[in-house]
Order: sequence, then structure tokens, then C-alpha cells
Amino acid sequence: MLDHSNDLTAFDRDHFFHPSTHMGMHARGETPTRVITSAEGCTIVDRNGRESLDAFAGLYCVNVGYGRKEIAEAIAEQARKLPYYHAYVGHGSEPSIRLAKMIVDRAPAGMSRVYFGLSGSDANETNIKLVWYANNILGRPEKKKIISRWRGYHGSGVMTGSLTGLKLFHNAFDLPRAPILHTEAPYYFRRPDRSMSEEQFSQFCADKLEEMILAEGPETVAAMIGEPVLGTGGIVPPPAGYWDKIETVLARYDVMLIADEVVTGFGRLGTMFGSDHYGMKPDLITIAKGLTSAYAPLSGTIVSEKLWNILVRGSDELGPIGHGWTYSAHPLCAAAGVANLDLIDELDLLGNVREVGAHFRSSLEAALGHHRYVGEVRGEGLLAAVEFVADRDDRRFFEPSVKIGPRISAALLERGVIARAMPEGDILGFAPPFCLTRKEADTIVQKTAEAVAAVM
Ligand code: PLP
Repeated sequence: MLDHSNDLTAFDRDHFFHPSTHMGMHARGETPTRVITSAEGCTIVDRNGRESLDAFAGLYCVNVGYGRKEIAEAIAEQARKLPYYHAYVGHGSEPSIRLAKMIVDRAPAGMSRVYFGLSGSDANETNIKLVWYANNILGRPEKKKIISRWRGYHGSGVMTGSLTGLKLFHNAFDLPRAPILHTEAPYYFRRPDRSMSEEQFSQFCADKLEEMILAEGPETVAAMIGEPVLGTGGIVPPPAGYWDKIETVLARYDVMLIADEVVTGFGRLGTMFGSDHYGMKPDLITIAKGLTSAYAPLSGTIVSEKLWNILVRGSDELGPIGHGWTYSAHPLCAAAGVANLDLIDELDLLGNVREVGAHFRSSLEAALGHHRYVGEVRGEGLLAAVEFVADRDDRRFFEPSVKIGPRISAALLERGVIARAMPEGDILGFAPPFCLTRKEADTIVQKTAEAVAAVM
């Protein structure tokens, strides 16, 4: 039966199962949904006409900003010409082929091919399967374990939820533990021994990784996965020398590196990839969000030439690879990707990330770096975080029940700015669109300082 009433609040409360949401509070109507109806630049508008400056670019994904007609038109034109055709055996669409070339042209040296998916989670599932497949082809079927890091975020599928090193995403789901292992997070602010320098802490993390590989047996460890900058786990840039030391250990035991660049790919740190920023040489790179700036869902796994050659050997021995989805390389999403990457170049948005990002982070540090409840202001490019502590001198953290992070983000929202209370710890995260102006950056900083003063 058609319901012609227009009570969106009731429809939403009674029928919409939202992701990552407190189900009971939503069902009881305690957290009514804010319905967003339009957006332009860095500003979103809800159905009551209320505007907010989106300092998290949706879920750090609307990188080129809202309201880009070039992308909307590219999707519409592709929908008129060819809404869909698959990419299986001997087929493809024009934008998906063009986009594959554009991605590899921009990727770090040594990368060769792109496998397209739809989300960061499915791209990481692909990574795991490719690593396992390659090791079978190489005749070492026991080399299958994947090392992730505590506080890493790699998705919420069955395997990728296991890779994710945040307890919230494991609660009561019985995700498989084997063959996933977690090693130390490169979280300098929370280092176990405060006398350690950054370099010493990086060495400590690399030593922990090596101990784990040796304890498990190097012949059983296939790959390590890591975000160049920890994202959902707290927006934590690595300490000096970290990736260098980690890669030295991986090379010693012939363990592949998967760089999860779902957040950092396509410019968030001011370089095209986070791997470029830190000089990493991954075997696989995960991409999603910034590939289309979320105008359409698209992800990818970029594989190195070396890995590609092993995969080719595999299909010569076993036949076509049995891995594919109906929507792999969907033409509408690929058209969005082509237009998005063109815009990033044409508008020199990476230049803006570097310039406005540096201004934003130094202003945030100046406004809050010395506050008695701020332990650290950190970031890189247009990615920043403020971590709140109960006592800055002895790095004592608030009890989780105090929920300082969510209270500050709520106070900030009341002042017209969206920042994200990160899921673990009292951390306010910022990842604004790349088109952020200095004036908007100043507004975010000023409103954040006001919100902090109002709560503490
Ligand atoms: N990897 C990283 C680093 C992410 O930040 C995310 C999502 O935030 C994912 C993977 C999962 O992507 P998706 O939500 O598109 O499945």
C-alpha cells in the first residue's frame, strides 16, 4: 500500500537501518536523523534550511567539495550514452579504461594495473585474495597470515572487519581472528615510554613487527596492511622514520605491503598518494573515497608490476581469475572518477591542500595547543586532530563514560561546523574538502575554540 504522507522522521525511525548507529536510541527516536538536502563548496544544508560548514567532507571523501557540475554532468552524460556494461572477459567501457590509465599515471613508481570495486572494504577483501592467490602460485601455500595494526581501519566486511583494529567493529560479530594479527599502532602520543624519541619509537614498532613475524614463522606471514596516516583510529601521522623501518623488516622476510590509501589517496596529504609522502613502496594500494570524491561509489586495488606478473602466471596455469562483481568498473562511477581527477589537476587542489592545510593546522595549534585539556594537535595536509586529555602533564585520559569528544563535536555543530568525534578516545577529527579557503579554515578554528571553551 502506498503511503502518501510525508513524515520522513517516522519513516526513518521505523524503517531505515543506519550504518554505525546506536540502534536502540535511533528506534526510540532519541537521536532523530538530520536530513541533508543540498550542498555547495564546503557547506551542507539540511531540510530545515540550516547550514553547516563540513569540516569532515562527509566521511573524508567529498574531496573536491560539493556542487561540482563537471562531475554531475559527466555522470549524466554517461547515463544517457551507456548506463552499464560489465567489464568481464573482453568487455569494458570507455571511462573505466581511461580512468585505469589516469590512476596508474598518478600512482607511485612500479604500480601497474587497477582492479575496480565499489567500496574500500571490498577493495581490501580483493587485496587479501590477491595476496593469497599469489602465494599459492609461488608455491608457498602456508604463507597466508596478514598483519594489521591496532587502531587501523580497513573496512567492516568479514575479513576487513577483522583487519580493522578498533574494538567497536569487532563487538559481538565473531569475526575470524585467524589469519589476521595486529601489531603495535604507530601512535607516538600514546607511546609506552615517554622518554623515547620519535625515531626510537619507530624502531620499537618495527622491532615489535619483527618479533611477531619471527614468532609466527616468516614462512606463514604474507602481508602487512597499513594506512600511511592512521585515520579512523585517531588521525595519527607516523613518527619519524616509521615506514622506512617497517619496510626494512618486511623486505627481510619477503612480506608484502598493502598501503590502504582510502583516505590518503588522491591528495589528502598534499601529495597524490600518502605512499609518495612517506617514500613507501607498496605491493598493493587500496583506493576509494577520493577517487570519485564520493560523487559515485568506486574503489580500486592498484597492484605492482611484480605482483601483476605473478597473477598473469596464475591465470596461465589455472585459467581466468575467479574474482569479479557485477558492478566492477561501473561506467557511471568511472565517469565520475575521470571528471574528479581532471578537476583536482585543473584547479591545483593539491596546492590548496598544502597551503590552506598548513595554515589550518598551525592556527589550530595556536588556538588550542596550550589548552590545559589538549594533549596534542596533529595532522598532515588537510587532515588534523585535536586529542583531549584529563591531564596534559601525565597524559591521563578521560574515562570513556565522560565522552568529551562527542560533547565537543555536538557543541561545534551548534556553532555551525561539523567535525568528527573519532570512535576511540577523545579525539576531534578534521578532514575538510580540498577547496577549503583560508577564511573557512579560520572559521573552523574559531568555532572549535569556542566549543572547547563551552564544554570545558
Ligand atoms: N580503509 C580505510 C583507510 C578507510 O578509512 C575506510 C573507510 O573509512 C575503508 C577502508 C573502508 O571503506 P568503505 O567504507 O568504503 O568500505
